[in-house]
Amino acid sequence: MLVSPEEILLPAFRAGRLVGAFNTGNMEMTMGILRAAEELDRPVLLQIAEKRLKHSPLALMGPLMAEAARRAKTPVAVQLDHGERADVMEQALGYGFTGIMFDGSALPLEENIARTRGIAAPWIEGEIGVLAGSEGGPEAEALFSDPAQAERFARESGCSCLAVSIGNAHGFYRGKPKLNFGILAEIHRRLPDTPLVLHGGTGIPKEDLARAARLGICKVNIATAGFAALYQAARTGEAGDYFALSAAMAAGVYENTKKLLRWFEEIF
Ligand code: 13P
Repeated sequence: MLVSPEEILLPAFRAGRLVGAFNTGNMEMTMGILRAAEELDRPVLLQIAEKRLKHSPLALMGPLMAEAARRAKTPVAVQLDHGERADVMEQALGYGFTGIMFDGSALPLEENIARTRGIAAPWIEGEIGVLAGSEGGPEAEALFSDPAQAERFARESGCSCLAVSIGNAHGFYRGKPKLNFGILAEIHRRLPDTPLVLHGGTGIPKEDLARAARLGICKVNIATAGFAALYQAARTGEAGDYFALSAAMAAGVYENTKKLLRWFEEIF
């Protein structure tokens, strides 16, 4: 069933549980993610990043994602990830998206606060600090979240939840990720009632996820691992048969999603 991120994330945050937010780019990915969520009976967020829309147009993916969520047996929130343009955010809400992530992390603090505050969506994820890597755009250099700025941003922007930059990165990590738990602990101390979000979930070890969950993180974003699982399954799929290929792509994403959802359960 299609629900607001609030219905999923607030109870998870209070309980200290992690929720998976899985990015999609096509029908097979969407089906794989939701099959895993249904089978394990876990709520999830289904997301698409604005920068992916040149490959997967919102006019097609939006209705597909919302309808897949409506038909799911488990609660599913549908969110625009890394939204930047007002018209795209409005379009997403029109298709039934229940959450918007506004990425003003590259803007000056005042502008990030003002733009985030101005978004008319029932659930808004804001971001403070810049992640290394990319979500389809140019490679960025990391800029860790400043706890004092994070506190001011959350209080003045009125965001529903807050994505932080603590050494997490989009894409595959070069070597083992080095998360700065000191910064995370300080942000959580200043904002004990704000659910925190960890982007760049691909490749973060289970023990780091467990530690993050104890310091206010309740939503973990996964994109690269899902795209890689689909690609791997497609490459090794039965050549010459589209239907086997389509099933293999969905199955690859399903396995990846299931593995991560199981991790989140084990941590809890
Ligand atoms: P990864 O691609 O590293 O999994 O990050 C996903 C993400 O944060 C999407 O917003």
